[in-house]
Amino acid sequence: MPKNKSKKVVQKLKNGELRKIRCELRTLLRLEKEKRWRDLQKRFAALGKDKSLSYDERWEKRSFIIREQEELRLDYIRYPLCCCLCGDRMENLVYSPGRYEWRCVPCYTRAHKKFPEEYP
Ligand SMILES: [Zn+2]
Repeated sequence: MPKNKSKKVVQKLKNGELRKIRCELRTLLRLEKEKRWRDLQKRFAALGKDKSLSYDERWEKRSFIIREQEELRLDYIRYPLCCCLCGDRMENLVYSPGRYEWRCVPCYTRAHKKFPEEYP
């Protein structure tokens, strides 16, 4: 995460080998996120079958799981792990200060052409 969230940040890694290593690390983190997401989904589904819980208890536990999934999703898009639009993990990424998200250079450039004030 950029230290100053209000500034545009552009990654500039050019070395192809380092970019591949970065991509592999990003892929590992994505796989871990997906594993955690699936685990939460399994817990969510199991709650539906648990007859020992009251409706309110089930609702409260399911709401907690939904919040955890949302935090997981937000954490993933707020760090420079992939383009939030196309999912590219190899490209350098650009941090969009107004949206708190990372986009690859082609996606950011396209957004800049359409909405220059939102994507400086
Ligand atoms: Zn992209």
